[in-house]
Amino acid sequence: PVYEEGIVKVEDLKSAIKEETILITIMHANNEIGTIQPIAEIGKIAKENNIKFHSDAVQSVGKIPVDVNELNVDLLSISSHKIYGPKGVGALYIRKRTRLEPILYGGGQEKDLSPGTENVAGIVGLGEACRLAKEELDENIPYITNLRNKLIDGILNSVEKSYINGDIEKKASRKCKFQIHRN
Ligand SMILES: *Cc1c(COP(=O)(O)O)cnc(C)c1O
Repeated sequence: PVYEEGIVKVEDLKSAIKEETILITIMHANNEIGTIQPIAEIGKIAKENNIKFHSDAVQSVGKIPVDVNELNVDLLSISSHKIYGPKGVGALYIRKRTRLEPILYGGGQEKDLSPGTENVAGIVGLGEACRLAKEELDENIPYITNLRNKLIDGILNSVEKSYINGDIEKKASRKCKFQIHRN
């Protein structure tokens, strides 16, 4: 569960681990309310328990710094079109010594993981989108955070009984989505 503030509690995660657990997967930034999960901390726990750890970073890449080593992840996935790249392309980071079974069989493309001719133009587009996202990150964070705060303040101050869903201190700052309810 994520409770009211929309954050996974590390203690809950610890107690959910069983002997047969082989994978933990938790999204980095939530696509509905923008909350950021304690990925680095969870990654440490996964490592201690010899469990592989995947994070969906589709909503965090390009909005906050994402470093696979700092986050302690074995696997991390991103999508191109969420950072203004072309649709239909994504990337999966795979740490060394993390073995995956393909879900499709056939050609040997992408290290036997995904048969079919690679979409080179799409891949180049994703690379360029990543380059730009990284380059613009430092500038974008304060700019978008300011816009977000203005919007939140405006709604909270003018709409009676409105409130924020999710912990405001732990939100992805760029393009953050949040839900405001009216009772
Ligand atoms: C959009 C999104 C996806 C799916 O990515 P597509 O490339 O659109 O299939 C996965 N996870 C999160 C958090 C997303 O926001």
